[in-house]
Amino acid sequence: MQIQNYIDGIFVKPKNERYLKNIDPSTGKAYGGIPDSSQEDVNNAIKAAKKAFPVWSNLTASERSTHLGRVASRIEERIDELASAESLDNGKPLKLARAVDIPRAADNFRFYASAILHENSEIHDMGINGFNYTTRRPIGVVACISPWNLPLYLFTWKIAPALAAGNTVVAKPSEITPATAYILSQILDEVNFPKGVLNIIHGTGLGVGEPLISHPEVPVISFTGGTKTGERINKIAASSFKKISLELGGKNPNIIFSDCDFDQMLKTTLQSSFANQGQICLCGSRILVERSIYNRFLKFFILKTKELRIGPPSDINTQIGAIVSSDHRDKILSCIQLAKDEGGIIECGGVSVNLGGENSGGYFVAPTIITGLDMNCRTNQEEIFGPVVTVMPFDSENEAIDLANNSQYGLASTIWTNDLKKAHRVANKIDTGIVWVNSWLVRDLRTPFGGAKNSGIGREGGFESLRFFTEPKNIYIDLK
Ligand code: NAD
Repeated sequence: MQIQNYIDGIFVKPKNERYLKNIDPSTGKAYGGIPDSSQEDVNNAIKAAKKAFPVWSNLTASERSTHLGRVASRIEERIDELASAESLDNGKPLKLARAVDIPRAADNFRFYASAILHENSEIHDMGINGFNYTTRRPIGVVACISPWNLPLYLFTWKIAPALAAGNTVVAKPSEITPATAYILSQILDEVNFPKGVLNIIHGTGLGVGEPLISHPEVPVISFTGGTKTGERINKIAASSFKKISLELGGKNPNIIFSDCDFDQMLKTTLQSSFANQGQICLCGSRILVERSIYNRFLKFFILKTKELRIGPPSDINTQIGAIVSSDHRDKILSCIQLAKDEGGIIECGGVSVNLGGENSGGYFVAPTIITGLDMNCRTNQEEIFGPVVTVMPFDSENEAIDLANNSQYGLASTIWTNDLKKAHRVANKIDTGIVWVNSWLVRDLRTPFGGAKNSGIGREGGFESLRFFTEPKNIYIDLK
C-alpha cells in the first residue's frame, strides 16, 4: 500500500517525494510506504481548507449532516477491508478491529451527522429591558492530530464534530498507523465529499504535526496523544492564543472492593487490563484490591491471564495481538525491567514472545502482572501503555481513594462494589474525568470525554465537541 496525501480532493505525493516505511508489527516487515510530508504539503492543505471554508460553513446543518452520513455509510460498506487494514497496520486482533474500531468510526460520523441537527442556541431574557441571544459559528481551519492505538476510531472522533460544526479540517493520523486514514480519503473521494473540506496529510510529528499546529491560519487544535507531546503543543499554541483540546495519557486506577460481583469483575478486569495489548488510554493499569480478597483475586487473575491466547492478529482466536512497533515493544520491556529493579515481583508474563514462522519477527509481549510495589515508585507513576498491570492491596475506602489519586494523571477509573452509597462516595472523590462503576469502557457518545490533571485539557463528546469547535457570540438587544 503506497499511501498518498489527500489535499483539495486530490491524491498527491509529498512534495519532497520522501516516504517512510509502513511496518506490519506482527511480522516486523515493511508492507508499504507513507508520505514523509513537510511544511509545503501542510501549507497546501491549509490553503485548500481555507478556500473551502466559506462554502462549507454556510451550508445548512442538514446539508452537512447528509455529507457526513454518506461517509458513515461508506465506512460501513467497507468495514471488512477497513478492519483488516487496521489490524495489519496496528497489530490489534482482527476481531477487535471488526467489532469495535471500525463500527465506532462509522458511529462517530453518524452521531455528529445527527447531533448537528439538534444543536440549538441560547437566549438569556432580561424581561422588559431586553434580551441576549448567543450564536455559535464555526471558527475556520481546524488541525486534528491523533495517535496509533485506536487509529480510525480516534481520528474520526475529532474530525466528525469539527466538520459537523462547519469548520474545514487538516488532519494528521499517526505515522505508525496511517492505513485506515488513507482508506478514509478514498471514501471521501467515493462519496464526492466537497473538495478541500477534509484534507489528510501523512508524516511525522515534527515534519507535519508541528508545522500544522504552528500555522497562523489554524486557530483550533484538537490533539490526542502522549502527555509530553501535549505539553509541547500547548506551549506552541499558547503564544498565539489558539483554541486547544488535549486528550493525553493516563495511569488509571481499577478499585476492587470485596463486596463486588467477583466473576463479573474478574472477566472485565482481564479486558480493562489487556484489551488491545493494554494500549488503550482507558485501560486500568493500577489495580487496587481490598485486602480480604487480594489473594483470591490474584490467584484467579493470574490463572485467567495465562490463558489469554497470544497470536497473529488475523487469527480469529487471538486475544492478544502484536505491540504496535519495535520501539514501543522495547519501551514496554524496559518498563518491566524497571519494575524488577524497583523490587516488583513478576507474577506472570514479563517477556517478549516469539510466535515463530512468519511471525518470528513480530513484536509480541506476554500480558504481565506485577506485585510488591508501592504507589510512589516510577512503575506506578509513569504510563507504560502496554499489557502490564500492577496489583496492590488496600485496607480501607479512604486508603483506596488516596492511592487512586496519587498520580499526575486523571483520565479514567473503575470501581467495583455492590454497595450503592460507597460507589457514589468513591466516584465523587476520585480525580478522574471518567468513572465506570461495575463496568469498563461503556461509551455513550453524548457524554463528556476527557481527563483531569496531566491527562488533558477540555472534553470531547456530545455537544461538548460542538461547543469546542464553534465560537460563541453573545448579542444583546435593548428593548427599552
Ligand atoms: P504521540 O504523542 O507520540 O503522538 C500522537 C500524534 O501526535 C501522532 O500523530 C504524532 O505524529 C503527533 N506528534 C508528535 N509530536 C508532535 C509535535 N511536536 N507536534 C504535533 N504533533 C506531534 O502519542 P502516541 O505514542 O501516538 O500515542 C500514545 C499516547 O496517546 C499515550 O500516552 C496514550 O495515553 C495517549 N492517548 C490518549 C487518549 C485520550 O483520549 N486521552 C486516547 C488514546 C491515546
